[in-house]
Amino acid sequence: MKCSFCGSEIRKGTGTTYVKMDGSVYYFCSRRCMKFSIEKKDPRKFKWASKPINNAKAN
Ligand SMILES: [Zn+2]
Repeated sequence: MKCSFCGSEIRKGTGTTYVKMDGSVYYFCSRRCMKFSIEKKDPRKFKWASKPINNAKAN
């Protein structure tokens, strides 16, 4: 699976799963990605998040 924020591949057993209050599930490669995503930062503003994906169309 891929990180919902930066698009990096997440290996099994690593990363963080985050379930929003509305029930949608997000996978993050790191807590950094989780934190920024929750704060609704734009991945394109971060050089380390080079491959933004549009998984967050649920909202
Ligand atoms: Zn990430």
